[in-house]
Amino acid sequence: MDWKYPLSEPFLDKEEQHAALDTIQSGWLSMGPKTEEFESAFAAKMECRHAIAVSNGTAALHLAFLALEIGEGDEVIQPAINFVAAANMTCAVGAQPVFSDLISLVEPTIDPAQVKAAINQKTRALVVMHYGGYPCHMRELAEICVENKIHLIEDACHGVGYRDPEAGNKFLGTIGDIGCFSFFANKNLTTGEGGMITTNSDQLAARVRNLRSHGMTTVTWDRHKGHASSYDVIANGFNYRIDDLRSSIGLVQLRKLDAGNQKRRQLAALYASMFSEQGRSDVEYIFGASPANGAGHLAAVILPARSRDRAREYLAAAGIQSSMHYPSIDRLSAFSESCNNQPLQVTHEFASRQITLPLYPGLTEEGVEEICETLEQALSE
Ligand SMILES: *Cc1c(COP(=O)(O)O)cnc(C)c1O
Repeated sequence: MDWKYPLSEPFLDKEEQHAALDTIQSGWLSMGPKTEEFESAFAAKMECRHAIAVSNGTAALHLAFLALEIGEGDEVIQPAINFVAAANMTCAVGAQPVFSDLISLVEPTIDPAQVKAAINQKTRALVVMHYGGYPCHMRELAEICVENKIHLIEDACHGVGYRDPEAGNKFLGTIGDIGCFSFFANKNLTTGEGGMITTNSDQLAARVRNLRSHGMTTVTWDRHKGHASSYDVIANGFNYRIDDLRSSIGLVQLRKLDAGNQKRRQLAALYASMFSEQGRSDVEYIFGASPANGAGHLAAVILPARSRDRAREYLAAAGIQSSMHYPSIDRLSAFSESCNNQPLQVTHEFASRQITLPLYPGLTEEGVEEICETLEQALSE
């Protein structure tokens, strides 16, 4: 289907084309000099000690759990409104996801009070997710983690490039022990497929680097540079490497990130003010009180449950793509039997009422206005 307004659209031009072409012409395609450059530039931008590029965001989460030695018998507290990757990777290392409820429908990030209540002897980590690029209550959550000696992992896939004023102006993904990013095609920074891990711990960084490439003590690029001719394998690792083609695209995307996020924030603020002008009690824009205080990854609204699916059909008929972020993970088949959770009242209501509207740097203000008007018509039918 050719959407008039797709949900998201990558923000690439000749610069990325030239960067990819240069890498092809350089003769080195796999993980090498461009990846080293991408990692250094990402760490510098995010003001953290280490950035380790990987093949995707799910691999980043998997390596985060492994580096923190989370496994059999451990519980990992996390929100059930998230992409399923964090929960899947929790299970992949043999640990048990424990879902905690959200603060509210319009502030759908994990509730610190609920996190506190979910902690027990088995709890080893908390995974937070900065929904739509809006920060979780990081100061409070970080304190809870320190007090209870549990690890803090940030699924920062929505939040790349946003400084959290509530957390010492640190970038999302650099506040906890490990931050995980995805560079999938619909993210604010894309390399097609790709991901990044950030940490300030030398020890965690070394483990992640080792596990990223088969647990080997050297990688091909080191051997090529003549730094090493042989290797040992010190852990049962994976091939979660990125490649230099993607890293060269990522370097360009990183330079454009601030401009893209700025545009996203302006459009988010326009959405919020349009809906507020409409003055309807049946549409609530998430974080509507401060729509620009985030990375602007998603434009999400809460509708009455009974109008939600009909509104999406109406939008689709007008060429406007919408989506839902996300179904509640505890209700998905692979999780529904194994979950031992707190009551998830806000979570389940959110999952039945939320829709996501188009938001990307190439969207125009007229586009946002048309989308808001079309949604209003849908609800007035
Ligand atoms: C995209 C995304 C992921 C997974 O990243 P992939 O690169 O697709 O593996 C995980 N969590 C969140 C919140 C995401 O948006």
